[in-house]
Amino acid sequence: MNSSRSRLPRRHTQRQALRSARNAAPQCDLQSLESSEALEQRIRRNNKSDSNWDTDSVSDRERDSGYSSHSNHEVEAEAEARYYDQMMDKFEEEGPTLSNPGDGTLGMMRGEKRNWQKFCETMKIDAEQALIACEAKRFKAYLIWRVRHSRVKKESTIITYWKVLSMVYARSAYRYMDEGVLYDLKNWIPSYLTRLFGLDDSEKEKACLFVDDLSVLLNCHWVRDTEVFAHERLRVQMALLLLISGCTATRPGALVGERPLLYSDIKLFLVQGEGLVPVIAMRLSLKHIKRSGGKSREKEFTFYEGADLVICPIIPFLALAFADDAFEANITTPTEIYDLVIPTRKTRMHLKWKTKWAERPIFRDVETTPTGVRMSKTKHLQYSKHRHHFIRLGRACGFEKVLQFYDLRRASGKKITEALTPEECNQIMGHRHRGTYTRYYMPGFIDRDCQAIYLGSPSRDDLVRAVGRLARDTLAPTALTDAQKLEISNDSRVLKLCRRRQRYADKIKEDLNFSTIKAAEGTEWYQRHKATQADINNLKRQLSDARLNQAIQEFHDTIDTIEINNQLQGIRPSEVLAPSTIEYELEERAIAAKLFFKSLDNLDESRVFRIRAKLIRNLIALCKRQETPHAYKMSTSRKRQCISYEDEYIKDIQKPNKILRIDDTITDSKKLPEGTALYCPFCRCDKEAGPRKRNFLFARIDGLRKHIREQHLDLRVTNEELICPFQGCSAPLAGTMHFFNHSKHQHDCMMFFKSTVTGLSRLRAALQSDEAEGDICADETASSLLHKLAICSALLESFLESI
Ligand SMILES: [Zn+2]
Ligand SMILES: [Zn+2]
Repeated sequence: MNSSRSRLPRRHTQRQALRSARNAAPQCDLQSLESSEALEQRIRRNNKSDSNWDTDSVSDRERDSGYSSHSNHEVEAEAEARYYDQMMDKFEEEGPTLSNPGDGTLGMMRGEKRNWQKFCETMKIDAEQALIACEAKRFKAYLIWRVRHSRVKKESTIITYWKVLSMVYARSAYRYMDEGVLYDLKNWIPSYLTRLFGLDDSEKEKACLFVDDLSVLLNCHWVRDTEVFAHERLRVQMALLLLISGCTATRPGALVGERPLLYSDIKLFLVQGEGLVPVIAMRLSLKHIKRSGGKSREKEFTFYEGADLVICPIIPFLALAFADDAFEANITTPTEIYDLVIPTRKTRMHLKWKTKWAERPIFRDVETTPTGVRMSKTKHLQYSKHRHHFIRLGRACGFEKVLQFYDLRRASGKKITEALTPEECNQIMGHRHRGTYTRYYMPGFIDRDCQAIYLGSPSRDDLVRAVGRLARDTLAPTALTDAQKLEISNDSRVLKLCRRRQRYADKIKEDLNFSTIKAAEGTEWYQRHKATQADINNLKRQLSDARLNQAIQEFHDTIDTIEINNQLQGIRPSEVLAPSTIEYELEERAIAAKLFFKSLDNLDESRVFRIRAKLIRNLIALCKRQETPHAYKMSTSRKRQCISYEDEYIKDIQKPNKILRIDDTITDSKKLPEGTALYCPFCRCDKEAGPRKRNFLFARIDGLRKHIREQHLDLRVTNEELICPFQGCSAPLAGTMHFFNHSKHQHDCMMFFKSTVTGLSRLRAALQSDEAEGDICADETASSLLHKLAICSALLESFLESI
C-alpha cells in the first residue's frame, strides 16, 4: 500500500497528513510522480466512469490506514480535490499555452526569428534577452537593418515583418507586446522608415471582376480562345473554377491549394423546387480556408442549376463527375438524372460518390503516359498552373490589367456586402471584423451615381458602372512578336547563361566523350548543365512575362488616340470575328461553343432540358479529348523560327519533331501505305488525341524515331509488355526490343536508332572486356544491370542479323 501512497501528488499527501493530525512528514517521493501521460490516461478513464473513480483504491487504502469511518461522500470529495490538484500540477509543468498559428505563419515566424538573431549578432547582444527586453528603439534599429539587408521596396512588406516579429516576441515572452511599443512603431514606420528609404506606400488598385466581365471571360474561354490546353478537361475545370470562385468569394487556395477540393467536399442532391421537375443542387463545403482568429471554420455553399447555361456551375460539374464515372449509383447519362423522381416520403435524394472517388481531387492535372497525355486520377491541379491559365485568359480577352483571383473575390465581396448582413459577410469572406473588408477589399471606385443623388436627377448607375469596369480591347497583344522574342534571346543575362550551358555541353561531349548530353546523366556535369538550363528557362519566362505586360500597357496607352485619329480620317472600326467563322479542331469543342451561347428564349421547358442534357453529354466527351498542341500545327519555317525561343516553353506539351505536312486524307484508311507514311503508331491509336496529332506525318524517319523514343518508349520499363500499336494489328509484344523487331518485320517500319545500336554495341564490347578481365561485381544492382545488358546485347545480335 505504501507504493500507492507514495505515488500520490504532494498536496494531497500533505492534506491527508494534516487531517490525520499526524505531525510526521508526509511520505512523498516526488521522483515517482506519475508521468503526465499516464496521469492523463487515468483522468480520461476516470472521466468516462465518473461514478466512483478510483474509490476502490482510495477506500482500500483508507481501510488499511484505519480511516474506514469516513463516509463515502467525503471520500468522493477527497478524490475530486485530488483530481484538480493533479490537473494544476500538470498545468504548472506545461507552462503558458501558446497561440496556434498556421504552418505558413509559423514559417514566417521562423524566418523573422533568424533575421532577428542575425541582427543581434551584428549588435553583439543576446537575441533572446534583447527580444524580451522589448525596447522600441532596438526594434526601430532592427527594422532599418532589415530594409538595408533585403530588397524590400514596399511599406506593406516591412509592416508585415514587424507584425511577425511581434508574434515572435509573444511566443518568447508569453504575452502580447506592450501596447506602447506597438503604438510607437505603428506610427514610426510610415513617418520615418518609409521616408528614409523612399518605400512604396501606394495602395494596389482594387479592381473588381463583376459578372459582366466574367461572362466575357467565359465567352472567350469557350468560343474565341485559341490556346491549347494540355487536355480539354482542364478547359471544363477552368470554367467551373471561375464560377465557384466568383460565387463564393473564396480565396483560390481553398479550391486548388495544398489541400485541394475533393469529391467528398461536394454533396450532389436532387431537390424539389417550386417547379414540376426536380432540380440538381450541390452543397460545396470549403474546408481548407484561411484561419480567422486561429480557427479555420468550414463554410458551405449551395449551387443549383441556372437558367443561363454558360454561368450554370452544375453543367461543368456534372460533366466532370460523369467523365470520372464517380457516381455510386449506376447513372451513366445526365438524362437519367433528369428522369428521376423524388419519392414523396423524402425531402431530397443524395447522389453519392463511389468510395474510391470520394477522396480524390475534382480539379486535377495531366500526366504523361506511354500512350499519351492523360488526366491523372490523383494529382491535383496546382495553384500556379491555374493562375497561369487565368492570366492568359485575361490577356486573350484583351484586359488591360493583369487579372488576379482577388479581382473576383473583391467583386463578389462587394456584391455580398451590399446584399447581406455584416455577420453573414464576415462569415462568407472569412473576416473577423468588417474593417478588414473596408481596408483591404473595398474598391476606391464608388459605383453609385453621386451626381444624381446630390442633384436629385434620375439615377444613371449603368453609366457609372460602365466607367468603373475594367478596360478591355480585344486587339491588345496576347503574345510577344518575333522581334520581342529575339530581344529576350539576346538579353545579356540570357546570353551569359547560354554561354555557361555551352561550356558544360562542351565538357560533356569533348572531355568526357559522351555522344549526347543525356548520355551523361548521373555525372556532375550533366547536373550542372541541367541546372543552367532551368535557370535559362526561368529567366526567359520572367523576361517575356514582363515584356508582354509592358507591350499590353503600351498598347492600351496609345490605342484610343490612334483609333480616334483613324475615325477622323474616315476609317471606321472593323467588326469583330463572328463566332460562326471560327474553326475548331475538336467537334466537341465546336458543339460546346454553339450550345453554351444558344439563345433559349421562346423555347419550351422540355426543349431547354434537351439542350442542357446534350450540352452536358458533349462536355463529358470533351473531358476525354485533347486538342493538338500548337507545335504540331506550325509550318516548318515558322517552327524553325520559334524553336530556339520556344523549345523550353513547350515542355509541358508534347514536343514534336519537324513537320512536313498534315495529310487529312489518311484519317480513315485501314490499310497503311507501308513503309512510306511516317506517322506515329502510338499517337494514331490514342483516342483522346486530336485528329491533327493522330494523322501527323513526320518529315523524316529519325524525327519519328526520336518522337517514339521520347514520348512513348522512354516512359516504359524495357520489358514491360505492350500491344502492338499499329492499326489493325494487336500482337502482344514482350517489350521494347520485341516492338522494334516486330515493327521491322511485320510493318516494314524501322524503329531502331543508329545511336542506340552503336550505344549498345559499345556497351556489349565493354561488357565483354569486363568479363575477359574477370571483374567480379559485388554490388547486386550493378550485377543485375549487367545481366539486363547481356539480354539486350543478345537481342541486339539477333536483330542485327535480321536486318
Ligand atoms: Zn506518338
Ligand atoms: Zn503489329
